[in-house]
Amino acid sequence: MTAVVRTIPAATEWVQRQRAEGKSIGLVPTMGALHEGHLSLVRRARQTCGRVIASVFINPLQFGPGEDYQRYPRDFDRDLSLLEREQVDAVFHPETAEIYPSPPLISVCAGNLGETLCGASRPGHFNGVTTVVAKLFHIIPADRAFFGQKDAQQLAVIRSMVRDLNFPITIEACPTVREPDGLAMSSRNAYLSPGERSNATILYRALQRAREMIQSGTRDAPNVEAKMREMIQSAPGAELDYARVVDRDTLAGLREIDKEVLVAVAVQFGKTRLIDNMIVAP
Ligand code: AMP
Repeated sequence: MTAVVRTIPAATEWVQRQRAEGKSIGLVPTMGALHEGHLSLVRRARQTCGRVIASVFINPLQFGPGEDYQRYPRDFDRDLSLLEREQVDAVFHPETAEIYPSPPLISVCAGNLGETLCGASRPGHFNGVTTVVAKLFHIIPADRAFFGQKDAQQLAVIRSMVRDLNFPITIEACPTVREPDGLAMSSRNAYLSPGERSNATILYRALQRAREMIQSGTRDAPNVEAKMREMIQSAPGAELDYARVVDRDTLAGLREIDKEVLVAVAVQFGKTRLIDNMIVAP
């Protein structure tokens, strides 16, 4: 049986009950519109934790003006039945006002990590992420929380928040789940027209090319970035946001590739912004 928990006191009570039974708790934060990527996190959590709770909450704080907060796909019944099928123990699905009874006066700042890459075109986004994740970690004091490598910058920001603010929780990263043609699964893929959907494989193809270049000896990061930019700019309908080779922890730009790097791209197709990345070792 999957319990549906809608309030903070009910979440506290659920956590206390699991603790009384001596169970470890795994938390999988999501914004719903679940797909195999989310479910892979849930499965990983089930392997390592006595109890698993997923959260389904579309966090208004992390959407900028003009972004897709209003039209973000919402289908809680479908999400719940997928989570039931995965035998998740509980789903935390609060109303917006439960999490933000009033606009927060205090928030968590993601600092420099939140200003580069996606942060440059989505100002404030990562502060919205750190603030809601900090709140979630307090509402549901889990032993482990599971995040996808798909959102590499989000993962770096959350790891840094946990380290810098001493949250007593372990962050686990899970590999990116892809469609058969390589497109990283995303709730936003549903926005793509059939034409955009087939051109959207350019993100994965550019990353693959970057990996080939690095693994066959290219050490010059700007050279790899230029190749990815060229590929993406020649794809129909693709509007490049960035194609970067950066330090995987600090997200700082690099000249020379002399260690494992994060290769990351962001591309706009019409109204849909897609991101993808790979960790590549030279
Ligand atoms: P979201 O609902 O988009 O906020 O994502 C919730 C969690 O699922 C985040 O930790 C994401 O990184 C993760 N996630 C989303 N898509 C994928 C994917 N294709 N593979 C693995 N994890 C994913």
